[in-house]
Amino acid sequence: MKFGGTSVGDVEAFERVFHIVSTQLDKHPIVVVSAMTKVTDALVAAFEIAKKGDFAGAIASLEQHFERHVEVSKQFLPDDQPNLFNGELDLTRNELSDLLMRVTRRSLPLQMLKDAIVSYGEQLSSRLLAEVLKAKGVNACQVDSRRLIITDDEYGAAQPIWDETEKLVKLELEPLIAAGEVPIMGGFIAANRGGETTTLGRGGSDYSAALIAAALRAGELQIWTDVTGVMTCDPRICGEARTIPVLSYEEAAELAYFGAKVLHPKTIKPAVDHGIPVRVCNTFHPDETGTMILAESGEAPNRIKSIAHKKNITILRITSARMLGSFGFMSAVFQVFERFRTVIDVISTSEVSIALTLDNTTEIDKIVTELERLGDVEVESGYGVICVVGEGLRASTGLASTVFSTISDVNVALISHGASSVNLTFVVKEEYVSDVIKRLHKELFRN
Ligand code: ADP
Ligand code: ASP
Ligand code: MG
Repeated sequence: MKFGGTSVGDVEAFERVFHIVSTQLDKHPIVVVSAMTKVTDALVAAFEIAKKGDFAGAIASLEQHFERHVEVSKQFLPDDQPNLFNGELDLTRNELSDLLMRVTRRSLPLQMLKDAIVSYGEQLSSRLLAEVLKAKGVNACQVDSRRLIITDDEYGAAQPIWDETEKLVKLELEPLIAAGEVPIMGGFIAANRGGETTTLGRGGSDYSAALIAAALRAGELQIWTDVTGVMTCDPRICGEARTIPVLSYEEAAELAYFGAKVLHPKTIKPAVDHGIPVRVCNTFHPDETGTMILAESGEAPNRIKSIAHKKNITILRITSARMLGSFGFMSAVFQVFERFRTVIDVISTSEVSIALTLDNTTEIDKIVTELERLGDVEVESGYGVICVVGEGLRASTGLASTVFSTISDVNVALISHGASSVNLTFVVKEEYVSDVIKRLHKELFRN
């Protein structure tokens, strides 16, 4: 059972989590929890403040978030006896102070320090949830995820080393479950082989939960969040969004990748590999069924499931006369992106040019300099990717035409279709994204 940040945002949220967990104790749950809402952002911000040299400002910015933890602990934990959470909080304050000081002095690599700092969100929330559940009579115990999930050294987006992780998860958790305990673990955080703290990328708690579910061959992976399942589009954009009852793994992966942040893109993979059903449920309405993600969704053709989107996208175009009839050009272009560890999202090619989109542009200047050796390069920011997803796209004609005729007055900068056969992806100027989604939603989900 994975609970996201908004599911552990305040006193009421902890109460809800207690109720949800306690109704499923017979299924021997393992709980994976995110940092309390806004805490990871606050830790990232504190790191940035310290980087600019303002140590005191960095420390001060975190106090209000510590306070939110203290409020929860005061509500549920008896104050007449020492409690493990207070000890953890004192330790956290000291350790964060030390780490932020190191940031101002650059006494360790910054990426390493950043992961160590942001990990305290999940360290605190998992300790707090474990103590709250214990106080309410659940046989809970906190388990440090960093001892179980082992990754490479890619700070900020570390890749788990599966064999080692699987072994450790089983070794550590199986005896606890056998003894009737409920392990409570922080999502998102892990460690490399040297024991240094790493993180799995923003939104990574879903991934942690999927890894643990896969290692233990769990009967089900439940993602508890603040909406009822995966919806026909982001409910923040269009009030008419509806819950999708069943999605295939492939559909869910496409949606997640193209911005439906209700699921982390990589979540799907370990679950698919081990045939574990994933259910997305609403902490605020635990009785609603939510979305089931299964190997095959078995839907009829002509059905589109959902519209995902991602903003803040940059388009890069490379044009080269040399590409005409030659080989090796694509490979030369891709090598540049590989060297600067930059992910390409959407891509479209013609005989003499390549257009592609990026959402991470930290290395863009260096990339452009390198690519200019291969051809003319153009960069334009301020775009959004829209991705229409459904098994129906595989088997039906006319859907692409419906999509584009609905938005015929909007300039489409790039289109990609056919690569996965369950998605139709295109790029428009960012200011049109909301309007395009509303119009498509109305047209495609009329019934
Ligand atoms: P958590 O903190 O539980 O991980 P997230 O904020 O990461 O929650 O994800 C839930 C949010 O995802 C929702 O509040 C919603 O605004 C957003 N979202 C985007 N696209 C979709 C979609 N297609 N269906 C449901 N939610 C979506
Ligand atoms: N707390 C982390 C984040 O905000 C991980 C997660 O919530 O999934 O990105
Ligand atoms: Mg999330």
